[in-house]
Amino acid sequence: MCPGAGRGPAVLQPRQSHWIPACAGMTGCCAGILVHVSLPPFRTPVKHCRNCGATVVYRIPDDGDTRERAVCPECGTIHYENPLNVVGTVPWWGDKVLLCKRNIEPRWGKWTLPAGFMELGETAAQGAMRETDEEAGAKIELGALLAILSVPRVGQVHMYWLAKLLSDEFAPGTETIEARLFAEDEIPWDEIAFKTVYETLKCYFADRHAGRAGLVHTIDIT
Ligand SMILES: [Zn+2]
Repeated sequence: MCPGAGRGPAVLQPRQSHWIPACAGMTGCCAGILVHVSLPPFRTPVKHCRNCGATVVYRIPDDGDTRERAVCPECGTIHYENPLNVVGTVPWWGDKVLLCKRNIEPRWGKWTLPAGFMELGETAAQGAMRETDEEAGAKIELGALLAILSVPRVGQVHMYWLAKLLSDEFAPGTETIEARLFAEDEIPWDEIAFKTVYETLKCYFADRHAGRAGLVHTIDIT
């Protein structure tokens, strides 16, 4: 049964893109019915004010905003919550790409491209190179941006760069069981950890087959 049942249908208002299907799009049972989700289900709500420590309340601020925010009733601080960036690479060596077998949850034991959350103080490209080093111990020369993938259901934007491998020897970190090169027909497509990675790999090989370069793929995963 849809967890959104009982919340009732609603009308999508301009600028209120946080109205989502009652089933969060997971089952498709609520196609066409939209409910107001004031708190993203994928992130722990803010409980206390970062400024003064008071318990916050979720409400639409009085400044013309249209979304509910965690507002401090004591000092008035508004806590904005926005999507996170995930950055990574498609490391290639001849006709093969490098995949990492995950040693962490979620999707332990599944294959992924080296990627992770961008850190404060680094550029997106620096983050992609750092993750490639941390997860695969791979020496790379960063190339062009290949894909930008929006995943609104979990509040994330993923960016993948092409990366030419400078060596086929790897030194995976603790988050990786194994780092290995795969030709297209060797890729364990049913064992890919995330749809973002699956779609990025499909873009990469489609470009190769078409003899295309320099195209940035923009993908929405809903
Ligand atoms: Zn406060």
